[in-house]
Amino acid sequence: MNCLFCKIVAGEIPSTKVYEDETVYAFRDINPQAPTHILVIPKAHIPSVDGINAENSAVVAHIFEVIPTIAAAEKLTNGYRVVSNCGQDAGQTVHHLHFHILGGQELSLQMA
Ligand code: 5GP
Ligand code: ZN
Repeated sequence: MNCLFCKIVAGEIPSTKVYEDETVYAFRDINPQAPTHILVIPKAHIPSVDGINAENSAVVAHIFEVIPTIAAAEKLTNGYRVVSNCGQDAGQTVHHLHFHILGGQELSLQMA
């Protein structure tokens, strides 16, 4: 599949890994919008939040278990933001479900 994040999961495109298990992969955003900017993705391709359903939502629950682990490892003790852009109006540019973790400074209400 011609998907950038599937290629990152497959190791075909290099990335800075911060977490990996059987179903989830997390890596640093190439264009950080905050001092800490990590993307957390399911290894299996889901196009966006719109593609979450009863068959695949377990990995999404797992992602939200993993996020606090990553936040602790990154020492985001003062808080952080989790964002997922879905579709054109939200400015989604990579059509493989991903959750941004943003932190390391006080964040404005506008993400980017
Ligand atoms: P979106 O705009 O779809 O919510 O977020 C896509 C994110 O992927 C952007 O923050 C962008 O900087 C990041 N990104 C795009 N291409 C790459 C890449 O090749 N490697 C990494 N690590 N991040 C990427
Ligand atoms: Zn993909």
